[in-house]
Amino acid sequence: MTKTHEPPGSAALLEWESPMHELAVAQLDRTAERMGLDENIWERLRTPQRCLVVSFPFRRDNYDTVETVFGYRVQHLLTMGPTKGGLRYDLDVGLGQVTALAMWMTWKCALMGLPFGGAKGGVRIDPRSCSSRELQRVTRRYTSEIIDMIGPDRDIPAPDLGTDQQTMAWILDTYSQQKGHAVPGVVTGKPIEVGGSQGRAEATGRGVISCTVDACRELGIDFSGARIAIQGFGQVGATAARIASHLGARIVAISDVKSGIVNEQGLDIAALEAWVAENRFIEGFPGGETASNVEVLEVPCEILIPAAVQNQITETNAGRLHCRLLVEAANGPTSLEAESILLDRGVLVIPDILANAGGVTVSYFEWVQGLQQFFWSEEEVNDRLIALMQRAFRDVLDLSKAENVDLRTAAMIRGIGRVAEAKRRRGVFP
Ligand code: NAD
Repeated sequence: MTKTHEPPGSAALLEWESPMHELAVAQLDRTAERMGLDENIWERLRTPQRCLVVSFPFRRDNYDTVETVFGYRVQHLLTMGPTKGGLRYDLDVGLGQVTALAMWMTWKCALMGLPFGGAKGGVRIDPRSCSSRELQRVTRRYTSEIIDMIGPDRDIPAPDLGTDQQTMAWILDTYSQQKGHAVPGVVTGKPIEVGGSQGRAEATGRGVISCTVDACRELGIDFSGARIAIQGFGQVGATAARIASHLGARIVAISDVKSGIVNEQGLDIAALEAWVAENRFIEGFPGGETASNVEVLEVPCEILIPAAVQNQITETNAGRLHCRLLVEAANGPTSLEAESILLDRGVLVIPDILANAGGVTVSYFEWVQGLQQFFWSEEEVNDRLIALMQRAFRDVLDLSKAENVDLRTAAMIRGIGRVAEAKRRRGVFP
């Protein structure tokens, strides 16, 4: 049968209509076609297995206002084990976006050899407009709404955009209250005091830099003298900046949601972190020149690390980027059109499912440590993380050379191939 980009049943995708879901499905279709994937499996992988949409009341701190808020949890694939994926608080959150992120989690876990299927959750709120008490109320109510779907051997949330360790602690507490006993394994990325893992908070950024160093070696770039621009200065972007500057690279530009800052001599990352801890945003930091978010992406550099939100590098700006290496710390930052422009220009793109896989890898370590009630030192966690990241990078690079494809296609071939094989082994019920 001739394969096309529209396998039968594609009309069903209307439910998830959104630019991010379109991107995730287009990437799947392109790879499936390239692999000659069994059409039945291909079709199953295009659609998530379970989606829950909830709406619930959210009371602001002034007792008068009650808003209706939407929440989502999507489990893309239940074949590989429990499902795993972050929880995102953002005004852009919707069913299509959360489903795309869940799908990427499936490929990411399979690529890293972790025993999970992909999931993702989200709440459509602006966390920056909420007080800590408001965030706690939203989190607890969202957790009770999705409680039947999650659990240590079902589906395990973790932090993502707009959520953090504290959010995970509230989920843990709400879930445990309902079950009548402590269930720390229901989330990963939680604080150390309640069963979190050493090294989890920095894991995504550490994995990003591990891939970057390996790619620099491949490209003949001296990492310790390289110039790096980073979009996003949250959990991932700030850690990547800190580790890279510790290794001797020069961070020449950084931005957050409001603005950016540029310094060709290299920004003082410790000073910037201290500034942001006090002032919340980069705006006003005296150690460089103010720039817009867009300008930061186009600053002359060897390495560009988008570490904020999706759809930042498009056909409009892809031709203006100066980097030789694009490392996708964020999920879905590059459109298909932009990627092909960059590849034509000889830019090496390390895809999100590889570059930011350090987070879920240490989440896996946290889950294992929790199950065994036996905790590792920070050094053990970091060493095991780097070993798995380097193995995955080498595997993807070798496959891309052997198959003569770009790194994203190679990473997806590996991830989808493992999932397809597991599906074939399990067969169809009934
Ligand atoms: P975060 O909320 O801690 O930080 C996000 C940063 O991006 C902040 O500095 C924010 O100001 C900035 N930002 C937000 N919207 C922006 C915009 N429109 N333009 C420019 N900057 C903007 O989030 P995070 O956990 O660091 O996640 C960042 C990215 O990394 C997301 O795409 C997320 O899915 C991905 N990721 C995170 C993890 C993790 O462990 N936290 C793991 C894998 C992937």
